[in-house]
Amino acid sequence: MTDASPAVGSGLSTAEIIAVGSELLTPFRIDTNSLFLTARLNDVGIVVRRKSIVGDSPTDLATAIGEALARVDMLVVCGGLGPTDDDLTRETVAEVLGLPLREDPRILEWLSGRFSARGWTMPENNRRQAQVPDGAVVLENPRGTAPGLWIEAAGRIVVLLPGPPRELEPMFAELAAGRLAARSSTKRLYRRVLRVAGRGESHVEELTQPVYEPWQRARHVIETTILASPGAVELHLSTRVDTASAAQTVLDGATAELAAVLGEHLVSTDGRTLADVVGTLLLQHGYRVAIGESCTGGLVTAALVDSPGSSKYLDQGIVAYSNDAKRTALGVEAAVLAEHGAVSEPVAEAMAAGARRAVGADVGVGVTGIAGPGGGTADKPVGTVCFAVVAPEGRRIVRTVLLPGDRAMIRQMATRTALDLLRRALERPPRHASVRSE
Ligand code: AMP
Ligand code: MG
Repeated sequence: MTDASPAVGSGLSTAEIIAVGSELLTPFRIDTNSLFLTARLNDVGIVVRRKSIVGDSPTDLATAIGEALARVDMLVVCGGLGPTDDDLTRETVAEVLGLPLREDPRILEWLSGRFSARGWTMPENNRRQAQVPDGAVVLENPRGTAPGLWIEAAGRIVVLLPGPPRELEPMFAELAAGRLAARSSTKRLYRRVLRVAGRGESHVEELTQPVYEPWQRARHVIETTILASPGAVELHLSTRVDTASAAQTVLDGATAELAAVLGEHLVSTDGRTLADVVGTLLLQHGYRVAIGESCTGGLVTAALVDSPGSSKYLDQGIVAYSNDAKRTALGVEAAVLAEHGAVSEPVAEAMAAGARRAVGADVGVGVTGIAGPGGGTADKPVGTVCFAVVAPEGRRIVRTVLLPGDRAMIRQMATRTALDLLRRALERPPRHASVRSE
């Protein structure tokens, strides 16, 4: 069978991936190959419909292969091409496809040459790696002993790749990607990521679901996935179309519809992180910022520093953990601490003002809260965090939030909330700028 075989036409659009190896079903190893393969398949417009992991069991593998071939145009199987008795992918695939295996003398010669070059004789086990199903194309493996195989049969493409990522990745790039691009349709998969802050996953879903529900029936279908992590939600939009400009039109329209319902909760539509967006806003205003943080212990400052170029707008971050530090490093008055307690809006505001004053910055941010597990009271339970943003032109937000989760999650969410409030303060027009405890 040649590359131009008519067995499988052009227009491949769907794939499944099967990762083979009993070690992948233990707590100690994870299948990473399928992430790499999914990205490369998407590059040529092929959508991955399902991924499976099966142990080194020919029965389980045969079932998985049979099921996958009934669902999609092509199948990538990785792992189980080694020389040992538990590596059974080659034999199982050949059997399911009804293809006889033949020993390929060129592979055998190459394999034994590999061993003799080191002064060894080839173990008899390795002979199995020279077995090739009838009509398959051999994908050479200069980095290991297991050649890959490209098989076209029963109107499907089945690609077998070795398990080790350092062998699989270059083999795919050098020998499989071009073949696939030639066989896939002219359509390509285009993605856009919308970042959202200040609303949880279910709230975002409630707002957006009515918008994207009709997209499923549109001429250019737009798939959506929602990814949530503490304090941040991402909406991933994808569409399969012929050209980048068509994708841009489709995704621009979808983005505009979502922007209308997400309002000020929408952080970015161009891949920028919350910290990047804050940085852009600070630059646009020509402001420099200083942070005074307590329970976040430097995380807010660190998040800002993650964005390249942050030296253009970040002056300093002061971690003031004890009351003494809040007084001496940030100038919070003892009377304010005594009257309201360290976790309070007046203290957060004094921390923001103090951080700003200490270095002559334009904008100050203050964060003080109870990360737990101890220290909570009936009035101020664990997770209570007070924030203040103080900026020119009356841009000012002071707010108390009750965050869920354990210490690590509370600190992470507090960090995102601080950046998000800073973003909102900078995005609002000056006349709307003073918002207290909303
Ligand atoms: P095999 O081709 O089954 O002999 O796999 C050899 C080695 O490749 C395994 O011991 C793993 O370390 C690695 N490997 C196999 N499958 C995967 C996978 N899906 N993702 C990441 N590593 C893998
Ligand atoms: Mg294995």
